[in-house]
Amino acid sequence: MPAEPPTDAPTTHPVAHDVVNPATEEVIATVRSTTPAEVDAAVRRATAAQRRWAALAPADRARLLRRFATAVDGAVEELAAIELREAGHPLAGARWEAGNVRDLLDYAAGGVERLTGYQIPVAGGLDVTFQEPLGVVAVIAPWNFPLPIAAWGSAPALAAGNAVLLKPAEATPLSALRLAELALAAGLPEDLFQVLPGAGPVTGEALVDHPGVAKVVFTGSTAVGKRIMARCAAGVKRLTLELGGKSPNIVFADADLERAAATAPGAFCDNAGQDCCARSRVLVERTVYDRFLALLEPAVLAVTVGDPADPATAMGPLISAAHRDRVRAHVPETTPAVVRGTVPTGPGYWYPPTVLEAHAAPARAAAEEIFGPVAVVAPFDDEADAVRQANATDYGLSGSVWTRDAARALRVVRAVAAGNLSVNSHSSVRHATPFGGFKHSGLGRELGPDALAAFTETKNVFIATEER
Ligand code: NAD
Repeated sequence: MPAEPPTDAPTTHPVAHDVVNPATEEVIATVRSTTPAEVDAAVRRATAAQRRWAALAPADRARLLRRFATAVDGAVEELAAIELREAGHPLAGARWEAGNVRDLLDYAAGGVERLTGYQIPVAGGLDVTFQEPLGVVAVIAPWNFPLPIAAWGSAPALAAGNAVLLKPAEATPLSALRLAELALAAGLPEDLFQVLPGAGPVTGEALVDHPGVAKVVFTGSTAVGKRIMARCAAGVKRLTLELGGKSPNIVFADADLERAAATAPGAFCDNAGQDCCARSRVLVERTVYDRFLALLEPAVLAVTVGDPADPATAMGPLISAAHRDRVRAHVPETTPAVVRGTVPTGPGYWYPPTVLEAHAAPARAAAEEIFGPVAVVAPFDDEADAVRQANATDYGLSGSVWTRDAARALRVVRAVAAGNLSVNSHSSVRHATPFGGFKHSGLGRELGPDALAAFTETKNVFIATEER
């Protein structure tokens, strides 16, 4: 999008955003903000496009979405290279992210012809239900996983017969803009999937407030999520929220301690900790606490931080100087740590992998989402204490349990109030399984078998068969 000034954006927000490579601090693009007037025009065009899209034969909609998936498959390397440059993601992760978009489009395409309703036995006639599309859906995406999170909302919404207006984060609009080009090239109708870059409080709020938008899908901070929820109330607007986390990694004494320690750094350093599912509270049974810390130290030091293009790199930079300031405000690099990794010198928004003990950690660091590669470790006494500590947070997004006792694993995952739990693993996300948060971590679920249903209204129809 050209960087010419819009005429109606409030002057307090920039009319264009620089996209900065966080590993080099170089400006790689400048992208103009979409003005509220342009949002209005986009909603009108999307409304018309949605009517035509919903009227297509389901098999034709599915075919077009599969072609979109094929186009993404052909562009995996290109999309990964964009993610690497605008978000600083190491190459292997960036490739996975582009592949996740392809897989999700394929999966959603498979749902188009399976969006069946019920036929319900009733007296005096026939009762059937229809899953009707909502209309125009706004997807507001964050910068931490720009491509997958954009697709988690967009793919099922399109498959269910809706139009999508996607607002990427200010820092990371480039992969989303490329995705829209791929959709058009694959044959998706014009105006059905539009990408509207811009400032959250301007472009984002114009979308949230627009009466022509039927549903908002938001991923980002809990503070902004609450604000959007309140604004949606005015229009009784449908809403999915994927917000923050402060997730526990619970390690029992009977676990494979070597594996639990070896995998723990990945669970809070992946994407430099800018992951809502980061297992940033490591709870360890007291009898093995010291041994676990001894095993954790070399594992943290082995996390290679550096150039995202280097295949040996495990962790890249933080997204921006401002975000690094936020992480430092929680945990200054001088805070006493159990272990602290190393980072490159020179340009780039680097922050080292860091492990703190809860009793010595700043109170905010132990309680709040840091969104950086920082974990706080604490001991627990028994199963009840582990569950109590795991649940002592307003968040409830994910968590891991490490134990060889299958019955205990089941008791603990049922007792932890979180949406995505893993046993002897840190896996949270698959396109075919549901994802979302308890408590302040969110509202609704994305992905999985019910993803399309979240973008429909159920309509019940009774047809009388009796003459009177
Ligand atoms: P944010 O919540 O401000 O931004 C996320 C998205 O919302 C962006 O597209 C942004 O432009 C948009 N937005 C911002 N204000 C808006 C508004 N008033 N109306 C509509 N849209 C709006 O997140 P951030 O500033 O990029 O990051 C701040 C913190 O949020 C991070 O430190 C982290 O704790 C958290 N965060 C969480 C996630 C997650 O996946 N849960 C993702 C990003 C950030």
